[in-house]
Amino acid sequence: MATEQNNLPAIIAHCKEYGFIFPSSEIYDGLSAVYDYGQWGVELKKNIKDLWWKSMVYMNENIVGIDSAIFMHPSIWKASGHVDNFSDPMIDNLDSKKRYRVDHLVEGYCEELLVSNKQLADEILAKMDTLLSNDDFVGLKQLIIDNQMKCAVSGTCNWTDVRQFNLMFSTKVGSVADESDTIYLRPETAQGIFVNFLNVHKTGRMKIPFGIAQIGKAFRNEIVARGFIFRMREFEQMEMQFFVRPGTQKEWYEHWKAARMQWHMDIFGTDKAEKYRFHDHVKLAHYADAACDIEFDFPMGFKELEGIHSRTDFDLTQHQLFSKKKMQYFDNDIDEATGKPYGNYIPYVVETSVGLDRSILCALTHAYQEEDLSTPEKQDARVVLKFPIKIAPIKLAVLPLMKKDGLAEIAKDLMNECRDSFLCFYEEKDSIGKRYRRMDALGTPFCVTIDHQTKEDGTVTIRYRDSMEQERVQLSDVKGIVLKALHN
Ligand code: ATP
Repeated sequence: MATEQNNLPAIIAHCKEYGFIFPSSEIYDGLSAVYDYGQWGVELKKNIKDLWWKSMVYMNENIVGIDSAIFMHPSIWKASGHVDNFSDPMIDNLDSKKRYRVDHLVEGYCEELLVSNKQLADEILAKMDTLLSNDDFVGLKQLIIDNQMKCAVSGTCNWTDVRQFNLMFSTKVGSVADESDTIYLRPETAQGIFVNFLNVHKTGRMKIPFGIAQIGKAFRNEIVARGFIFRMREFEQMEMQFFVRPGTQKEWYEHWKAARMQWHMDIFGTDKAEKYRFHDHVKLAHYADAACDIEFDFPMGFKELEGIHSRTDFDLTQHQLFSKKKMQYFDNDIDEATGKPYGNYIPYVVETSVGLDRSILCALTHAYQEEDLSTPEKQDARVVLKFPIKIAPIKLAVLPLMKKDGLAEIAKDLMNECRDSFLCFYEEKDSIGKRYRRMDALGTPFCVTIDHQTKEDGTVTIRYRDSMEQERVQLSDVKGIVLKALHN
């Protein structure tokens, strides 16, 4: 049985077997670090998206949503700094031709070293941080050579120089490649929000502080893409940029840090709190005056799930500079210090940015359980996905004991009664026990069995996924039971 520590391979296999997530282009042997969501994965994804959207847009009067295009004017990426700075230092092994992100190579080496010489591992990591922050590529290569860090494929120390590698995918607009301009697939959704700041502020009559939320695809040519849907080349982000009066950003940053952590707790429960932690950035990006990650204890350890950044007025100022359009806001609230309106300024921004796919991996990590149900008489086990009902793909399975004797018709009537309120699943094949196990594997919280007694007294057996308990309830109460659990 997979233990909690090593259950990523089991989760990956389960996702494929039960229609959650498939490797992309599988019949052509797949495409590295790209995945397709199957029939149940897409429901899980939609439910998480809806919860995020609701918590941002519906629960806050001063936040609205947009959906900006993936293709944007190429100058946007110059203004944002992505053309010049969105890169990672890489090194290639000359024998295997395998390319590594320098920080991953060094971290991997130190992870092994940790067991035998923790002090040295810590020293190497600290040195790497200093070299990275100084963009000292010669020093980084020397660090790799001095410590004899080897390529996992060739086993040699034969390295190229360290070089920067831009993570943006580019393509051409127009039909004649020569005459056309290079454009980029967006590496983040945030810039689509910044360039619509004026549009939304004016048409939405938004008053500072206000936010703009967006869910959408982002693309990064990740060199070392690993960890299943943790690091993909095509992924989805749920981002919100909150525009505030300069000088108030610290307070809003603290507000959003707490609010975002609470969102994770609201979905999965405060009893899961020990699986989350904040990681405050010591080395800040050039545009930030405060930043942290919410890290989650994924099967491969604590890693970033969400970023919260106080981005100052960097982005809007850059877009003002490059577009020559005034990215200003007129604030007619009275400044108590001067007794005059605050007047014109470029707002400061606090950003929350969570990966949708990483949120799904987080949900799967919480939910996936292999349970030993053996009794002295019989060996037994089940795999169950204990999703909170709000994100479970299917809420109710309707299972007639058999197709004949009118049981299927009663089941179909129940399906018709419920289908406008939540997703139900109908299954008439296999024994009831097998069907229950299949529903456990899909994470369905409720199963209802229609049997001959239903015809006599209008009752059904309801079976609860987590406890596996069963009880008789009125058929007419089933929809209400599920709705009550869903809206609790
Ligand atoms: P990392 O350090 O893990 O590469 P990042 O700091 O580059 O992440 P951000 O640019 O802050 O990530 O993006 C915001 C969020 O988008 C991340 O917290 C993560 O959840 C998600 N994300 C970023 N890159 C990927 C990726 N390649 N695959 C899946 N999700 C991603």
